[in-house]
Amino acid sequence: MRRIPALLLTLLLLSSLAACGGHAPTAPENDGPSQPESPDQAKVPEEPEMPEPEPYVIYDPTVLPEGGVRDGVTYTAWDGIVEHLFFHPVVAYPELAFDGDRQSDGIDDYMVTVDEYNKILQSVYDKGYILVDIGDVWSEVTGEDGQPKMVRNTLYIPEGKKPLIFSYDDTNYYPYMLENGFTYKLIIGEDGKIWSWGKDPAGNEVTSRDLDAIPILDKFVEEHPDFSPFGAKGSLSLTGYCGILGYRTMTEKEDQSAEHEAKRQKEREAVKPIIAELKRTGWTFGSHTWGHINLAKKSLEVVQADTQKWLDEVGSLVGPTTILYYPHGARPDGDDVRQTGPIFQYLQSQGFRVFASVGIESYSSIKKDICAVICDRLHPDGTTLRGSDKVLSWYEQFYDARDIIDLDVRPQREVRWTPKH
Ligand SMILES: [Zn+2]
Repeated sequence: MRRIPALLLTLLLLSSLAACGGHAPTAPENDGPSQPESPDQAKVPEEPEMPEPEPYVIYDPTVLPEGGVRDGVTYTAWDGIVEHLFFHPVVAYPELAFDGDRQSDGIDDYMVTVDEYNKILQSVYDKGYILVDIGDVWSEVTGEDGQPKMVRNTLYIPEGKKPLIFSYDDTNYYPYMLENGFTYKLIIGEDGKIWSWGKDPAGNEVTSRDLDAIPILDKFVEEHPDFSPFGAKGSLSLTGYCGILGYRTMTEKEDQSAEHEAKRQKEREAVKPIIAELKRTGWTFGSHTWGHINLAKKSLEVVQADTQKWLDEVGSLVGPTTILYYPHGARPDGDDVRQTGPIFQYLQSQGFRVFASVGIESYSSIKKDICAVICDRLHPDGTTLRGSDKVLSWYEQFYDARDIIDLDVRPQREVRWTPKH
């Protein structure tokens, strides 16, 4: 396996998966003819037993409510930093994730468990953060020179609160995750809401709203509506090579048969109501490239072909997006801060405006020479939860990592902070 600098926050386990198909384990929905008790039966919203969805209101945070007050809450202008935390899918079953196989350390490095995620949500809520969508933070306008440019929006948020973006990388439900303690896919439950479906360590089918980062946040916002005064949830950063959201909607070089295409079209139809319900309830989507490719290293031709594939197979389902999340945190052309190289220019020409990497703070900078914004995100995960006192301080505005990390279930590996007294 190639060696990759740790700071690039590479998901080694993801990058080592060249293709989704072949001999990789496949999702249960691909196992053969569908069975009557399959969750597939429960996710078509037209079914008669499906209740009317609860109304869900989404507000624009760039507009001050009439009189500056909504629902008895006073809104004030915010031009300060908009913090940004990103997660990978969360570990539902630590005993499968941390069983000592070759994925254990990678999962320990780059993921948090359900319990840790719950504690992080509670902590950022307690510390006065409220969710905003990344798509509302910047806008494209026409400059005095007639050229389009990005501007930072003034947000109008509840007095005393601080805005926070959540994004979730690789919410594709890759085959390796299915055997390593993650949920298998999103479905629509009998209540019309987003649930996860998967299998517990004993192999029993489990439908739940408590085991997957997405329904967990939905539930948290239901219980704490003031955590999301605009209805925003998170931005889902999707690749395409294993399909999306647990549905195998991808083309495969190795299998161009009519059977595969028919199966793929079925998966595309099956994921549409999930996407619609996510969008209706405040979730948005961004690209993580089709093949999880390294934008610092690939040629322009490779990036062009990959982008086209993403637009064809993922964009065609989730709709247009201006957000691009760099796989491995790797910056196009090797540097997007001091230069605007041919790959960055190409990606911008395809509609991307917000280019997100990974860093030690919620840095952002509006590009002067092209209509685009670059930004960094912080990453709650094993690497930072185990981090030094310095790392602890980067996150202390959100939580104290020593209160979050669950050393009882994680592998026996080093922690680098000073214990609490
Ligand atoms: Zn990724």
